[in-house]
Amino acid sequence: MIEILDLHKSYGPLAVLKGIDLKLEHGKVLVIIGPSGSGKTTLLRCFNLLEVPDRGCIVFGDTKLNFTDTKKVSEHNVLALRKRTGMVFQSYNLFPHMTALGNVMEGQVTVQKRSKGDARKRALALLDKVGLAEKTDFYPHQLSGGQQQRVAIARAMAVDPEVLLFDEPTSALDPELVGEVLKVIKQLAAEGMTMVIVTHEMKFAADVADKIILMDDGLILERGTPEDVLEHPKSTRALQFLNRLK
Ligand code: ADP
Ligand code: MG
Repeated sequence: MIEILDLHKSYGPLAVLKGIDLKLEHGKVLVIIGPSGSGKTTLLRCFNLLEVPDRGCIVFGDTKLNFTDTKKVSEHNVLALRKRTGMVFQSYNLFPHMTALGNVMEGQVTVQKRSKGDARKRALALLDKVGLAEKTDFYPHQLSGGQQQRVAIARAMAVDPEVLLFDEPTSALDPELVGEVLKVIKQLAAEGMTMVIVTHEMKFAADVADKIILMDDGLILERGTPEDVLEHPKSTRALQFLNRLK
């Protein structure tokens, strides 16, 4: 469903992605792990073109985008691809002046042009699904970090994305709030949502991932099932990284 071919991205002189190839099938969960600075966030942001790659190719269903140094991908194509994805950030990024309900309605009304009535119905159903039926009229500052992140997940789901992207969704949370967010993500995985998740939660990664990639210095160092990558890594560098997390 999504295929990435020989993807490169630099910031000025700093090469951050140095040739990434991967495939993600519909309904599967890909987990990205790796040391800080290895390019995980940049790769995730290339999936929805929050960062535009310098070179390479992204195939998204029936759409193929080629990136070259000379020819720019049109804004139209960028927006079209972005609409097919939903992003959940480490720091939630909710609109502070809107209630939980307002946050989950917003994209539906502005991007998808749904009626307010329909958007409201869908938002209420999603907030119920993430366990926040009682909190729909609360503002972000009245919610815990775990609750805010669950609103953010509902918001990302509300525009019916084909793939959900998570960048360290629990790393800003107090430890006792991590579980409630991971539980929601696991539930979505069980329902067949296609997802790409950057995380340092190894037990969660092992539970939820169909495939794991371990990035190091802009390249994929290890790839395979959770067992392949977490239990039987081939490289010493991967082993060192995994041992540090234990
Ligand atoms: P990770 O998520 O694995 O920690 P990132 O993708 O955030 O890694 O960053 C990879 C490298 O790219 C880091 O060295 C980081 O400082 C650099 N980088 C990330 N974003 C930018 C940017 N917008 N401008 C310049 N350098 C950046
Ligand atoms: Mg990151």
